[in-house]
Amino acid sequence: MIPAEFDYVRPGSVDEALSALREGGEDAKLLAGGHSLLPLMKLRLAAPTLLVDLGGVPGLSGIERANGGWKIGAMTAHAAMARESGLGLAAHVAHTIADPQVRHRGTIGGSLAHGDPASDLPGVLLAAEGSVQVQGPNGQRSIGAADLFEDYLTTSIADDEIVTSVTMPSMDGFGYAYEKFNRRAEDWAMVAVAVWVKNEGGTVSDVRVGLGNMGSTPLRATAVEEALRGQPASAEAIAKAAELAADGTEPPGDLNASPDYKRHLARVLTRRALTKAAAA
Ligand SMILES: Cc1cc2nc3c(=O)[nH]c(=O)nc-3n(C[C@H](O)[C@H](O)[C@H](O)COP(=O)(O)OP(=O)(O)OC[C@H]3O[C@@H](n4cnc5c(N)ncnc54)[C@H](O)[C@@H]3O)c2cc1C
Repeated sequence: MIPAEFDYVRPGSVDEALSALREGGEDAKLLAGGHSLLPLMKLRLAAPTLLVDLGGVPGLSGIERANGGWKIGAMTAHAAMARESGLGLAAHVAHTIADPQVRHRGTIGGSLAHGDPASDLPGVLLAAEGSVQVQGPNGQRSIGAADLFEDYLTTSIADDEIVTSVTMPSMDGFGYAYEKFNRRAEDWAMVAVAVWVKNEGGTVSDVRVGLGNMGSTPLRATAVEEALRGQPASAEAIAKAAELAADGTEPPGDLNASPDYKRHLARVLTRRALTKAAAA
């Protein structure tokens, strides 16, 4: 499959990239790892007239501790995140993405800006209450994950804004687990569940649950969190809370799983993930 014709620029700074976006108009698109955008272009589901490649912009990759959490450059590849074990769940999740080629090209900024609910990192950012920092014509702003994902492949990042970095809270003191259900290890998740549990002396003092592919955006299983917070970290309490995992979700049916099967998966995977995280 061959994409429609397009122009290509490789700016050397964020300001140059913003200018190129402005000059390219509404059909200009940023290019990061290209592993979501290029397949869409090849299928002619996207036909940008200009690609603005962020690959030559210095300062957009890297992982560092900042303000008690982590600052991850937007152009940081999944593979680099997977190597930074201090990132905890986010590193573990990055390692489950597809295959080595995708992990070396795909970036966290691209994954979050693309806004695919089946992707692995959006649900993690949402449940951790992380944020993205964007730069646009009017300067910089920060978007909390709860305000980022609006609909299928739709985020609150404006067309003329660039994600420069991602802030991930450190989640110190939490045990974590990720349950991703797919047919082959490198496949997209049919359903994925990201969980943090703070088990203090046998009581769940805090808990976060993020769901992937259970709706048009990544979701937070707030009913599970509310049911388990303050309860004993027991098998019974976990099983009872996990039964609420599909509440309020509208998972899309697809070739691999019907909506009902996905709801069943969400409940089972949430119970497994909570059990592991509570024991970690
Ligand atoms: C075969 C295959 C399997 C895959 N499997 C998985 C999987 O199991 N799990 C998973 O999570 N992902 C999977 N992916 C997707 C992969 O992780 C993508 O690389 C990622 O979702 C997008 O990142 P990217 O850097 O490639 O972005 P690109 O494809 O370059 O861009 C994606 C979108 O984000 C925009 N964008 C990119 N960077 C920025 C920025 N800094 N600021 C604003 N907008 C930006 C682009 O304009 C575009 O609209 C798979 C991809 C392939 C090809």
